[in-house]
Amino acid sequence: MTRILPTSLMGMVIFAATLATATDAPADELNIYSYRQPFLIRPLMDSFTKETGTTVNIVYAKKGMLERIKAEGPNSPADLVLTVDIGRLNDMVEADVLAETSSETLESKIPAHLREPQGKWYGLTQRSRVIYVSRDRIPTDATFTYESLADPKYKGLICSRSGKNVYNVSLIASMIAHHGEAETRRWLEGLKANLARKPQGNDRAQAKAIFEGQCDIGIGNTYYYGKMATNDKKPEQKQWANAIRVVFPNQKDRGAHMNISGAGVLKSSKNKAAAIKLIEFLASPKAQAIYAQQNFEYPVIEGVSADTVTAKLGTFKPDTINLAEIAKHREAASKLVDAVAFDKGPAS
Ligand code: FE
Repeated sequence: MTRILPTSLMGMVIFAATLATATDAPADELNIYSYRQPFLIRPLMDSFTKETGTTVNIVYAKKGMLERIKAEGPNSPADLVLTVDIGRLNDMVEADVLAETSSETLESKIPAHLREPQGKWYGLTQRSRVIYVSRDRIPTDATFTYESLADPKYKGLICSRSGKNVYNVSLIASMIAHHGEAETRRWLEGLKANLARKPQGNDRAQAKAIFEGQCDIGIGNTYYYGKMATNDKKPEQKQWANAIRVVFPNQKDRGAHMNISGAGVLKSSKNKAAAIKLIEFLASPKAQAIYAQQNFEYPVIEGVSADTVTAKLGTFKPDTINLAEIAKHREAASKLVDAVAFDKGPAS
């Protein structure tokens, strides 16, 4: 059975103590710290436990994971982490809490640009950061590049969430990786000048703003399209999805910016072999299909299709720059956001 440990709104700090400590954890039990949510992780872990007999204990967190792991040090009960965004995985590499691992299975199945060279983390799902455009107000044959978002012809037409958001920092870092800092700064200033309003809200809020006519163009991750388009609990989100068209940018050059969710084994784990087995399971066709169906993400392995809603967005060319290369520029990207005062929005 998969045991689900309580989640705290305050983060994970309180509940970590309920896990077995690293030294007394038997090999048939794994402890996970997860930034990924229960609706997605629970079916995956149930399936793993059924297949292997290994019990999986999960602490779900919204923040504070790395701080906790650092504070616990070698006594951390956690064997592995599950998280989203190259930025968070890279922060863990820099804090030196992830173990070097190797796995022939993972190395053969997961493309090299989606995993850390020393096996410190492995990408398990892909998402693209795309352009949401108004179906009504932007011509269907309009193509975009990220660079084009700074074109003065879009003045007053673009909505964005905070430049400091982890997904945007990675996108800006990819611009630095491709163009250098000086050019990226000019681009970011141009994008800021084109904003319709002060950066705000999450990715879905940008689609909502397009639906409401506040802007014609937004930036968001692919999986939110599927989440909105199928949202029976909040049917207004289906209208937001209907109001937008998802455009994959840079199709004539490097391809659309990609990010991942991924997993890494902790240095402190006493069950590294079992932890790798779990990551191998998460990269299996069965688990990859669950990720695709439950969360509208793109698989990292060959032979597994996207869910039907996401598949309708069409095939596209992804940017295959190594994510570790993007991660290197995240700090500079974050500083640029401050330097151009992106979050203050357009000059009024
Ligand atoms: Fe997200």
